[in-house]
Amino acid sequence: MINIETITALCKQRGFIFPGSEIYGGLANTWDYGPLGVELLNNIKKVWWRDFVQKRIDVVGMDAAILMNTKVWEASGHVGGFSDPLIDCKKCHERFRPDKLIEEATGDVVDPANHEKLLEIMNRQKIKCPSCGEMDWTDIRTFNLMFETHQGVTKGGGTLVYLRPETAQGIFVNFKNIQGTSRKKMPFGIAQIGKAFRNEITPGNFVFRTREFEQMELEFFCKPGTELDWYKHWKDFAWDFLIGSIGLETKNIRFRDHAEDELAHYANACADIEYHFPFGEKGGSWGELWGIASRTDYDLKQHEKFSGEDMKYFDPETNEKYIPYVVEPSLGVNRLALAVLIDAYREDKAPTSDGKEDVRVVMKFHKDIAPFKVAVLPLQNKLADEATKVWEEINGRFTTDFDTTGSIGKRYRRQDEIGTPYCVTFDFDSLEDKSVTVRDRDTMKQERIKIDELADYLTCNL
Ligand code: ATP
Repeated sequence: MINIETITALCKQRGFIFPGSEIYGGLANTWDYGPLGVELLNNIKKVWWRDFVQKRIDVVGMDAAILMNTKVWEASGHVGGFSDPLIDCKKCHERFRPDKLIEEATGDVVDPANHEKLLEIMNRQKIKCPSCGEMDWTDIRTFNLMFETHQGVTKGGGTLVYLRPETAQGIFVNFKNIQGTSRKKMPFGIAQIGKAFRNEITPGNFVFRTREFEQMELEFFCKPGTELDWYKHWKDFAWDFLIGSIGLETKNIRFRDHAEDELAHYANACADIEYHFPFGEKGGSWGELWGIASRTDYDLKQHEKFSGEDMKYFDPETNEKYIPYVVEPSLGVNRLALAVLIDAYREDKAPTSDGKEDVRVVMKFHKDIAPFKVAVLPLQNKLADEATKVWEEINGRFTTDFDTTGSIGKRYRRQDEIGTPYCVTFDFDSLEDKSVTVRDRDTMKQERIKIDELADYLTCNL
């Protein structure tokens, strides 16, 4: 099985993801996305937006401000309760989340708010510090995960604001604006993609858990009593999206339904779609990729209470007035990108010209997700001008790389490693027969195609 170090190294070497602020020694757990990484993220977001917003008559989009009135976070419960349990090792002073230590040791998910139970399990299981191996823990404390900053003139303090820890609240506070202007009737959803910030106690595992990340969230509003049907609908929809539109392998994902005692007090159902990440020593472990929750009317009710604004919906068909219930599928862009990178990675055996066997690294991205769709490769440098014309012909339609450096074999390998579905080689015959060789990443089959017909050929295959 692939390990996370291999993926991290490939990402750096090929220009997907670099350590943040590297020339200054870095900043722990920050990552910068390079030319290929940004294409990958953009493609993931584009496909999500297409399937969750543009293809749905019952969903509209929005883009809210990251900085919001502090009252939003009081109403949502984040000021009072958005915290994780924290425990220190008295010997080496490393900090950990006790719920995660238990999960790693036993596989059990424990309510992070139940400190008594967490301590009891830590003692019973004799859980030692992963850093120094001692078993000398402090008490468990709670730690609020919201980043604080100040808006306006900061000398005298300015106004306290938080960096949003989720995009969802920007949707709830705009519920009335959007419902009124879009004239959507129940049931309908509002979707958003944007940055979120959490001062995580234990970030790590590459981009799996970072303090700055991006979310793709949908809040789907419906009539009370219908929410569990919609919850099922969105679970199935999310699953089909991961398989059909993102191209993850079915064997690498699973549902984990939350037990009754694990549910947040306002939720009446919740499930995660988990991905089998190559973390840890036991051949990988399942980690949350996507949270899907039926949140009842909690959020809109809280905002009605705290803002004094009426958050009810008037149903013109039944003449009823009610606060809608909400189903929320919430997915991390970066976490999905990591799953995509892991899932796509293949080491194929390939014969070399001298009859030996070589390993060919191929990123088998779904074609919609691949950073480049096509690469144009002039066989030799002196063909570059003519090959550029081919590149110009197709680049407007498909994101296309152009590479002149190294032997053609090496260039094929490089394109395989960045997951480009098609390589187009311009050779000396191309000058005469006005044709190019198109090589398929997955089958390695090569086909001679007329330059005139290249764009149509690629359109049919991409
Ligand atoms: P976890 O248990 O992993 O901390 P969570 O249950 O707090 O996650 P949610 O609040 O449900 O996560 O967030 C929805 C999604 O946002 C997650 O499923 C994940 O894909 C993504 N996400 C949450 N926290 C982070 C993070 N620190 N870094 C990257 N992605 C994150």
